[in-house]
Amino acid sequence: MSEGSFHSIPNTNLYVEVVLPLAIPRTYTYWVPEELVAQVSFGKRVEVQFGKKKLYAGLVVQTLHEAPDGYQPKPILSIIDPNPIINAQQYRLWQWMAKYYCATLGEIMNAAMPGNLKLSSETSVIISPLFDENYGGLNDKEYLIAEALSIQNTLSIQDIQGILGQKTVYPLIRSMLDKKIIFLKEDLKAKYKPKKVHCIRLAEPYASQSELMEEAFEKLARSVKQVDTLMAYMQLSRNQSYVRRADLCKKAKVDASVIKAMEKKGVIEIYEQTISRLGSYDNQLEGKHPLSDQQKLAYQEILAQWEEKNVVLLHGVTGSGKTNVYIELIEEALKRGEQVLYLLPEIALTTQITSRLQKIFGNDIAVYHSRLNNNERVELWQEVMDGKPVVLGARSALYLPFIKLKTIIIDEEHDSSFKQFDPSPRYQARDVAIVAAGIHRAKVLLGTATPSLESYYNAKQGKYGLVTMPDRFGGIELPHIEVIDARKEQQEKKMHSIFSSRLLDGIKQTLEQQEQIILFQNRRGYAPTYRCTTCGWHSECIHCDVSLTYHKFHNNLKCHYCGYTTNLPVACPACKTKALSLHGFGTEKIEDELKIFLPDVAIQRMDFDTVKGKEGHSKIINAFQEGEIDILVGTQMVTKGLDFDRVGLVGILSADQLLHFPDFRAAERSFQLMIQVAGRAGRKGKQGKVLIQAYNVAHPVLSEVIDGDFDPFYNREIQERQQFKYPPFLRLIKISIKHKQPKTVNEAAKIYSHFVKKHLGDRVKGPAIPYISRVRGFYILDFLVKLEKDTKAIQKIKEVLMEGMFKVQQEKGYSGVRINIDVDPY
Ligand code: ADP
Ligand code: ZN
Ligand code: ZN
Repeated sequence: MSEGSFHSIPNTNLYVEVVLPLAIPRTYTYWVPEELVAQVSFGKRVEVQFGKKKLYAGLVVQTLHEAPDGYQPKPILSIIDPNPIINAQQYRLWQWMAKYYCATLGEIMNAAMPGNLKLSSETSVIISPLFDENYGGLNDKEYLIAEALSIQNTLSIQDIQGILGQKTVYPLIRSMLDKKIIFLKEDLKAKYKPKKVHCIRLAEPYASQSELMEEAFEKLARSVKQVDTLMAYMQLSRNQSYVRRADLCKKAKVDASVIKAMEKKGVIEIYEQTISRLGSYDNQLEGKHPLSDQQKLAYQEILAQWEEKNVVLLHGVTGSGKTNVYIELIEEALKRGEQVLYLLPEIALTTQITSRLQKIFGNDIAVYHSRLNNNERVELWQEVMDGKPVVLGARSALYLPFIKLKTIIIDEEHDSSFKQFDPSPRYQARDVAIVAAGIHRAKVLLGTATPSLESYYNAKQGKYGLVTMPDRFGGIELPHIEVIDARKEQQEKKMHSIFSSRLLDGIKQTLEQQEQIILFQNRRGYAPTYRCTTCGWHSECIHCDVSLTYHKFHNNLKCHYCGYTTNLPVACPACKTKALSLHGFGTEKIEDELKIFLPDVAIQRMDFDTVKGKEGHSKIINAFQEGEIDILVGTQMVTKGLDFDRVGLVGILSADQLLHFPDFRAAERSFQLMIQVAGRAGRKGKQGKVLIQAYNVAHPVLSEVIDGDFDPFYNREIQERQQFKYPPFLRLIKISIKHKQPKTVNEAAKIYSHFVKKHLGDRVKGPAIPYISRVRGFYILDFLVKLEKDTKAIQKIKEVLMEGMFKVQQEKGYSGVRINIDVDPY
């Protein structure tokens, strides 16, 4: 306890509303002590006490000149930021999201801000791997902390308070994080290593005396290769701040031994250069392709429709070159000095598109995805605040502090990964982007080959503009699609295990023509069920209400929801017979069996199990691109954002499994997936082929996929949505109540049900046991609310649903009950 502590009494009449990084319903009021008045302002973090002991970094969102009624606020303890870290537009978006998605501002702040900007009592710090141990450059307090960290690996907030003998430490932690003297401990887990690459520079005296270059060339004169390499170096170094060894080897068409020899002769030096992970881009830039006629028309049409409407849907078939149109829009925006946000599904970001855009826009573009660590995130946050022109990112890039955002491009707008499931806020990035555009007065382009029903409906209603590109670039035809009747082949005994003879023949033919193949099955592992044929027992997860998938490689059974694994029982645990067998199939089985039918073919699997690690995904993509793989077997991953040259055939192993999923979006998803994966076939040069295996060939979606026309599919599906009262005609809100004790869930659901139905009547359906009733040991009960679209009361209803949540959680014995409110669930 430090001496001289007194109760604080407000000595100013300045108060602030502060958002705390907690799921509490509202902002909190604090008063501003005199010595902090000059610095306090919107958007800065302040250190405050909340609860008995806890200190938090909260965010000032409003200043007030009147004390709140009825209670005495606590003072803010310090001001952490010299400058605001969020802007007014961001906060307006947060407020909208909180209201619309039934989330708290604290939850949104937590999701929005990079870890380094979220300090709390739980924060602990480590010495930064980037700290150059220049202790002389530190001030006294920084020195004390750095020194303590050199002895002791990590320090908690309490440790730091102790070392400095002061309570207020957040501003210091902030500045040490900024200077990269320390890191948050979380980053240790992410194994942050600054990326180093080998680079080449001229050795002395040539580096500083260019008039001696002739002598350098003479030294190498006996080797043509070395002379060429030096020339290549001179060229590269002209417009790059550093020359990577790999780039030089590539340009001069030599290997590293040549460079080594040149180093020995004292002409050049090899050194290590630390490069920013944000992909500071120094490779040679490439020009863009000129627009095709169709693209030019589409581009002009988009601009014309933007005059009238804020959102335009670009419906362009796979291979029509939508990216080219985006690039044109980005270029124009850059000329006007504006910012552009280009959103993509996370997985597509790991591939070709990133490098394509970087080659065109160089350092004007930043990439924001989930694999960045805290430091990289803050760096990027700052860059965007300073006006970084282009951000390419996954859904969370919406949270960045744009200052002059005027264009938002949402590529693959139909993709369900734009929806955030957990934790709250459970938002749909496409929809949030449209609201953000309203706040920034920006225009939105939604691009896709397979529009979501919602977006197409909005376009048809005239709410959005609609621009189409019906043809592929370069006159290439869309693939020829054929459905194979697997039931018929089975009756005729023509199936080879999971492969129809038609598909196997197709694969062989394609291989003979030296073309590649993609096989798609939306399930990983070997077989999704292990069942007793005598009594019907099947292997189930002990934590979840799902069956365990057999993985042959590990020879175990695994839960895809919680990761639980167990050995295969030899006998049925229920009836003790040994009549156990595997049912269904996943990607692993496809790969496994293909190897039997086609022993000499290079087969690679791409799914969650094979792409672990940061680079796994792009490694496989590159190998496929380079022709090292003949057949790529994969889950949804093979459908997203890829553009290959030599794919002759795409096979879809089980359309039934997609179509019969118990969800009102099953038909839409299946249509999108099948068209998207089909779109990987036959890109450059010639028409590709798609073979779809199905047992139920009568399903209407299949003939719609064959026709490839969007409208017939849309017209049928939209009628069903209207008839059965689903989006886009109604809004859905799903409430899930979860607890490890079934009794507690039941009771909590009763309390919730009673409360919300008292206010909202039988608009609220439930509780009901969902399709998967237990996950990770949590029992689940669901409620569903269907709302007419123009219901005025919508906000009121959401407030009641949230109030009910807080009410249950405040009830004695129910504080551990989780209640998720999901607005517009997927
Ligand atoms: P989409 O995203 O609409 O499916 P992409 O943008 O991936 O299509 O383009 C498909 C292929 O056509 C890519 O290989 C791309 O480089 C090429 N392409 C598209 N437009 C042009 C153009 N105007 N000039 C040259 N190549 C183009
Ligand atoms: Zn049995
Ligand atoms: Zn499980």
